[in-house]
Amino acid sequence: MKPERVAVVGAGPAGLFCAETLAGAGHHVTIFDRMPSPARKFLMAGRGGLNLTHSEPLERFLTHYGEASPRLAPFIRAFMPDDLRSWCESLGEETFVGTSGRVFPKSMKASPLLRAWLRRLAALGVRLETRQRFAGFDETGLMLMESPSGACEAMSFAGIVLALGGASWPRLGSDGAWSDILCRDGLAVAPFKPSNMGVKIDWTQTFRERFAGTPLKRIALTLGKRTVRGEAVVTETGFEGGAVYALSAGIRVAIERDGKAELLVDLRPDLSEEALAGRVSKPRQGQSTSTFLRKAASLSPAAISLLREGGDVPTDARFLARRIKALPLRITGVQGLDRAISSAGGVAWEEVDDRLMLRRRPGVFVAGEMLDWEAPTGGYLLQASFATGYAAAQGLIAYLSTGDQAQVSEAIHATR
Ligand SMILES: Cc1cc2nc3c(=O)[nH]c(=O)nc-3n(C[C@H](O)[C@H](O)[C@H](O)COP(=O)(O)OP(=O)(O)OC[C@H]3O[C@@H](n4cnc5c(N)ncnc54)[C@H](O)[C@@H]3O)c2cc1C
Repeated sequence: MKPERVAVVGAGPAGLFCAETLAGAGHHVTIFDRMPSPARKFLMAGRGGLNLTHSEPLERFLTHYGEASPRLAPFIRAFMPDDLRSWCESLGEETFVGTSGRVFPKSMKASPLLRAWLRRLAALGVRLETRQRFAGFDETGLMLMESPSGACEAMSFAGIVLALGGASWPRLGSDGAWSDILCRDGLAVAPFKPSNMGVKIDWTQTFRERFAGTPLKRIALTLGKRTVRGEAVVTETGFEGGAVYALSAGIRVAIERDGKAELLVDLRPDLSEEALAGRVSKPRQGQSTSTFLRKAASLSPAAISLLREGGDVPTDARFLARRIKALPLRITGVQGLDRAISSAGGVAWEEVDDRLMLRRRPGVFVAGEMLDWEAPTGGYLLQASFATGYAAAQGLIAYLSTGDQAQVSEAIHATR
């Protein structure tokens, strides 16, 4: 194999893993990123415990990608959750499976992993160029990189992988501005929408002031026919947290369609309505409603106040139990891209072939969250980012080795 000069644009997990794979195959890799340092979103992901992947059976794992599952499945089969764990361990970071089946590095953080990873990339000869913004392609097909001075340089590479991320948390680097650039190029890009985001609920002032920041643990949330157990955190403007994120795609669709959505909160999912009715039918013996609910139904102060957010608390034991098991909350909107964990939308699947190469730009591959897929939290986002980074690298390696490159470049120049 002849080593070639290749570029990876975007130093998030998809781009870095792609660069590692390309350099491991002997190519000369330069990574570009618009930010002053790499992998800022990956580091942010490590703040709340870096959930690398999930240990559930693969068939179930793949269902979390919804409509994109058939397109992502071959890439995830080629780079499985266990491969991601082994890779992490090869960098000195042991992993473990949490009680929910989620996989984390033992340190829970991204920073030690990233430090070891960057050392490995440097040892492989990978160059990292920061503060370099991808600005598109010129009319001869050269890649344009813009430096902070605003100067644009046209660069030639034997192959390019774009791993520019989605559009959530833009201040961490992935601002989705590449979408306009590629759209101008004629590429179909599905509009970005927030995914795994908080939802808006009109709390009363008292509830907001008292409970913003308080977690409601071991609850279940239902949207339509889907119920998810987990945790939600009260925010100034509504709810966020794992259980909310798991339903976020459906909530977003309902809000787009109807302007509102109804969420049912089960504050005691481990008790049947009947058992709960038995508990709350005991005499109150002069206790206040709060004390009674705390003792009889083991509800936290936040859960008790949440019950009141749903209207008058029923006194009849059966109605009270039903309310505790299915408290309706009206969602008035969803939080925006600026604080969403991830985004839906991105490069349309019909624009890439089964090696993730852009059909209309041979030699240019796409990886990571910039492709049009979404998934709940649980490790599915990083797994798909790594797997597509790996697939794009393998695609580019094959492209460079089969001589496609020469044929394609001849074809492009013949049509110009
Ligand atoms: C708070 C938070 C917590 C999270 N926790 C988890 C978790 O525990 N588990 C999980 O699976 N996922 C988690 N995620 C999501 C996960 O971090 C992302 O899905 C993942 O980082 C996407 O990887 P990527 O490489 O595709 O894109 P990114 O990580 O977004 O990287 C894209 C890179 O491209 C660069 N870039 C963008 N545009 C340009 C341009 N024009 N020119 C040059 N460079 C450019 C950006 O600066 C960035 O460095 C979390 C996200 C957030 C915000």
